[in-house]
Amino acid sequence: MQLLWREPWLKPLIDYDIDSENCSLCKGKFDDISFVTSCEFCVIGIMHDKCANLHILESHISELNTKILQHKEKPLHDFQ
Ligand SMILES: [Zn+2]
Ligand SMILES: [Zn+2]
Repeated sequence: MQLLWREPWLKPLIDYDIDSENCSLCKGKFDDISFVTSCEFCVIGIMHDKCANLHILESHISELNTKILQHKEKPLHDFQ
């Protein structure tokens, strides 16, 4: 089984304490190759990439909005 972090892309999941082959959210088993990520707002564990998106939208919408605002306040150096 090969689990890949969403960010940065294709980084093998080697230094994470994996005690389960199942997604923390949907409890589904990971496929042979799965894109996974952990929640940056809590310690729910590793999830499918798409499950993490759902989890964050359902459980951390206020934290997410705060983060979006912080990004908006950054200077736009990347575009200069
Ligand atoms: Zn899942
Ligand atoms: Zn979370």
